[in-house]
Amino acid sequence: MDIVCTDKEALIFQQIGKAAASLNMPCYLIGGFVRDKIIGRATKDIDIVCIGDGISLAHKVAEAFHPKPYVSFFKNFGTAQIKIDDLEIEFVGARKESYAKNSRKPEVVPGTIEDDQNRRDFTINAMAISLNAADYGSLIDPFNGIQSIRDKIIVTPLEPSQTFSDDPLRMMRAIRFAAQLNYTIVPETLAAIAANVHRISIVSQERITDELNKIMLCEKPSVGWDLLFKTGLLQKIFPQMVDLHGAEYIDGLGHKDNFYHTLQVLDNMATSTDDLWLRWAALLHDIGKPATKRFEEGHGFTFHGHEVVGARMVPKIFSKLKLPLNEKMKQVQKLVLLHLRPISLTKENITDSAIRRLLFDAGEDIDALMMLCSADITSKNKHKVKRYLQNFELVKERLLEVEDADRIRNWQPPITGEIIMATFGLTPGRQVGIIKDAIREAILDGVIPNEYEAAKKFMLEKGKELDLEAIE
Ligand code: ATP
Ligand code: MG
Repeated sequence: MDIVCTDKEALIFQQIGKAAASLNMPCYLIGGFVRDKIIGRATKDIDIVCIGDGISLAHKVAEAFHPKPYVSFFKNFGTAQIKIDDLEIEFVGARKESYAKNSRKPEVVPGTIEDDQNRRDFTINAMAISLNAADYGSLIDPFNGIQSIRDKIIVTPLEPSQTFSDDPLRMMRAIRFAAQLNYTIVPETLAAIAANVHRISIVSQERITDELNKIMLCEKPSVGWDLLFKTGLLQKIFPQMVDLHGAEYIDGLGHKDNFYHTLQVLDNMATSTDDLWLRWAALLHDIGKPATKRFEEGHGFTFHGHEVVGARMVPKIFSKLKLPLNEKMKQVQKLVLLHLRPISLTKENITDSAIRRLLFDAGEDIDALMMLCSADITSKNKHKVKRYLQNFELVKERLLEVEDADRIRNWQPPITGEIIMATFGLTPGRQVGIIKDAIREAILDGVIPNEYEAAKKFMLEKGKELDLEAIE
């Protein structure tokens, strides 16, 4: 088999072949590495399967390199790993598997290379390349994975329903590979996913979310989400997304299908950024719409406040999906909350204070927010899209001007809570908050300049209004 390897890879494979021969242990390259090399995709994970003990083979291979790489191994699983530069090489003995109903962890016994290929999830993942002297470099492809690559299809080697029922994570993997590689899941395999969606309940949320994140990072993430929807998996793993689906009409007044709108926004976002979290923000930007949908007589459907409701849903969704509950979640939440603000700035005569306010509220995320808003324009009318985007350019120019003049992005008002407390002899509480907010609002509205002296004078006036006496 001609696959294009780097010199380093070729050398490593020779060493592995030699080490295996000295142990009298046939061994093969297998799985994702073989697939990616044939497709011509970058890959750093190398999987080696041997007929025997993978851990012994890993130790033997390590001895052939200077400096000798560290061998990390798991006795229980019979797997071992070594790292050579940026390559991660995993060794495991060939195995045969049988599954119990309530677990995706199979009973494992040693097996032949055929047994090991039989347990692989898709034909494109079941190819092996021999590293044995007798047929070094030849492809062992019992399920014609090569043809699947040519046909760009995802298909299981064995009966699909059994394959998915045994290990339901494979359903997520099928969809993820379809999205990553832009391949088609063959009808029988796709139908078997639809028939086994209930089995996803035995898969841990972490594994599901790993696959979701891989889908998110695809060039066109909508492909994966649409397949999740069409197979019925989405209903099981993320029903709030499904609630976005459907367009309704009353008296000839309708609204767009928010599910497909969202996927379009996500794809638009993906053309602008590889940042996983900005892509999640795009996916979730309208998640509050179903809960806020109303029909107003003679006017049509409205989704008032969906950005507020959506932002409130973000932590719960992150928690359910076991996504990190850290500043990334906060960033997503903020973008969902603010996603309508720049649009409102294109509709009115833009005052400096409105621009300052947006800069203050968005802070460091202003560029991401503008990106999301541009992605949110999904009209089929090209002229409309063009006009909207032009309006956004104007808003962006104004943002730059105001930021240049006022430096609002990372701004803190010149009078702090501490100063207010010291001035009026207050302890932390409501009154401090009232004065602090009033100062901030006055500066953002342009009532007073963004300076200490002016803010201090304003604070003293505000204190008087509240019957407070300045003690210093
Ligand atoms: P990627 O590395 O891009 O996630 P991969 O196919 O290489 O994709 P790995 O998790 O690295 O995935 O697994 C390596 C190989 O192990 C796969 O190519 C496949 O042959 C096999 N494999 C992995 N997970 C499963 C599974 N759930 N069921 C059957 N075979 C699997
Ligand atoms: Mg891999």
